[in-house]
Amino acid sequence: MTTLPILIHPDPRLKARAAPVAEVTDDLRRLAEDMLQTMYEAPGIGLAAPQVGQMIRLLVMDCVKEEDAAPKPMVLFNPRVVGASEEVRTYEEGCLSIPDQYADVERPAEVDVEWLGLDGETHRDRFDGLWAVCVQHEIDHLDGKLFIDYLKPLKRQMITRKMQKLKRERARA
Ligand SMILES: [Zn+2]
Repeated sequence: MTTLPILIHPDPRLKARAAPVAEVTDDLRRLAEDMLQTMYEAPGIGLAAPQVGQMIRLLVMDCVKEEDAAPKPMVLFNPRVVGASEEVRTYEEGCLSIPDQYADVERPAEVDVEWLGLDGETHRDRFDGLWAVCVQHEIDHLDGKLFIDYLKPLKRQMITRKMQKLKRERARA
């Protein structure tokens, strides 16, 4: 397995819409494995393919937080929200492509999601709690949307300037 470099905002690939996969191939299974490893190492709870420069509709996540609980890695190809609760919930979100920046985002508290699994079969499940936040955040990535797009323009611009500075510093290092 390989750890992949994670793109940092702003980057045109993080603003673009990703393409659905026609079929779950061995190459795509390997990419999903690499993305899981990259996510765990970061560490993070979710990662979408565009964040590693792959413009396909694939995301991985594991929202198990308890230290001694068994990990629950999930791989979703072509995920889509097919239902959402009216109840909303606000959660302070962050993003591996926007390091060290956090902000409150309001989203439906529970969502029904349909996707293709590693087995190539269609799966459907209801997500709640942190899993619901994470799956919606990651599906947004597949549509070129970041959590800062939910914020007021001034706050978004402030975060974007910080990231531009971070990228300049990293490029110089
Ligand atoms: Zn993110």
